[in-house]
Amino acid sequence: MSERVLVGAGVGTGVSIASAFIYRTDRYVPWDSEALGSTRGLIAIKAALADVAQEIDKARESTDEESADILDALKLVLEDESLMENIKVRLADGANSQRAVIGAFKSAAQVLAQLGDYFAERSNDIIELGERVIDKLNGKQDSVWPSEPFVLVADNLGPLEMVKLQSSSIVGLVTSLGSPTSHTSILARGMNLPTVVSVSGAEFIQAGDQLIVDSSSGQVFVKPDEIEIAQYVNAVADIAQEVVDVQALELPVKLYANLGSSSEGAAALSFGAQGVGLFRTELLFLGEKVAPSLETQVLEYSRLLDQFPNQVVIVRVLDLDTDKPLPFLKLTETGKYANRGFQALLANPEALITQLTALSLASQKHPEAKLWVMAPMVSNAEQAVQFVEMAKKLGLETVGVMIEVPEVCEPEVLEQIVNVVDFLSIGTNDLTQYTLNQDRLGSTQALSMVREPEVLELIRRVTEFATKAGKPIGICGEAASDFESAKLFIEYGVSSLSLSPALIPGLARELSS
Ligand code: PEP
Ligand code: MG
Repeated sequence: MSERVLVGAGVGTGVSIASAFIYRTDRYVPWDSEALGSTRGLIAIKAALADVAQEIDKARESTDEESADILDALKLVLEDESLMENIKVRLADGANSQRAVIGAFKSAAQVLAQLGDYFAERSNDIIELGERVIDKLNGKQDSVWPSEPFVLVADNLGPLEMVKLQSSSIVGLVTSLGSPTSHTSILARGMNLPTVVSVSGAEFIQAGDQLIVDSSSGQVFVKPDEIEIAQYVNAVADIAQEVVDVQALELPVKLYANLGSSSEGAAALSFGAQGVGLFRTELLFLGEKVAPSLETQVLEYSRLLDQFPNQVVIVRVLDLDTDKPLPFLKLTETGKYANRGFQALLANPEALITQLTALSLASQKHPEAKLWVMAPMVSNAEQAVQFVEMAKKLGLETVGVMIEVPEVCEPEVLEQIVNVVDFLSIGTNDLTQYTLNQDRLGSTQALSMVREPEVLELIRRVTEFATKAGKPIGICGEAASDFESAKLFIEYGVSSLSLSPALIPGLARELSS
């Protein structure tokens, strides 16, 4: 079992397995400080600008069209006369060359930042450009990258740092900041570099840790175990050979995708996903200082639904965890499951109502997709009733709950739950750890433990109750991707398995042979 599975937004379709190389970007944090010292003046600045422009030209030679456009835009900034004028004014006012450069790039960036979201993101590129000019002024040497294949782990990377990595042995990229629509992400896609951005907990990764970067599901496995490595080694081979045509195979169940961001939809489709079995919505919330607005959420859910016409898309409302507390959400009193999943949402009804409303609005915009909504970590029948009532009142038609704790697998509880929900989904990661009293922090992937008899009995029973009541029942924990476990779940009667898109072709091949 991996030491940890981190989640972010996946960029591209690939998977990579290699050691982590931690890269601390030289941010000129004192962009506002008085501490910078070079006094070499305009000639040195012009030479530095020309050096960066030359680097851009060189990078442009070996890149795709979309990346070339990004580089051209950066070069235009360097050549912009108003930038040079701004630098000159600052020098004339007595600024040293570094401060003049910083000031001029910063004001160019501010113009963009004021235009809002999309442009604000682009304004970071201008800041990075200024930083590269200062590197040149300071005579800073280029970074030395490892000669062995490596996964670069950084807070954020600018487009220029990205292009310099093109000639290195980089095989994957993990950043704690950034977004899937940034220029860096576009360049990563152009380089076919498996990338996960906006990864919460990336600081947990140590230099040299083995990582699996699964850009199709936005997951980063830290110190994966043998089963996970074997699965992903197969996935890498499948991707390279493009041999498995999932749609052409006869499969005993639907194979759905587990996603953490709408940016992963394209990958899911390319791997043959027949819908989305688990859309984790945490990414919208994690790392934020204020709750994501209704509009932000409608946009993200709409982007997701738009990619899956006529297919089932199961979105899970926020699964808050105590190891990821959020400043804008209240914690409840301590106690079993108190600050997880649905119970945590019950303590924050506004957040839940906003999320359900956003889902309902997105669904109205995309009636062609079959949106199903479910609550995580429901721990008794009353909660299931409560969630279904709330969601339906807000216009959601197909509402279900996750089965993740043993308390809801008791026959009398199950009986009530199956009568009220439209579908069930078993989260084997949590169900395994709570049934066997394992600590999730040490073992996120309950891949082999899921086959402990106690756990299997619960999964069998839940499947039996759901099937008898005529309700769809799926498995969306990591165990769904493990062939031996998947066979058992199918025997019990599940109607879908949901897994990382990159693992769908491999499982489909095994299930159909
Ligand atoms: C699970 O517990 O199996 C599950 C799918 O949820 P998560 O891993 O997001 O807790
Ligand atoms: Mg869970």
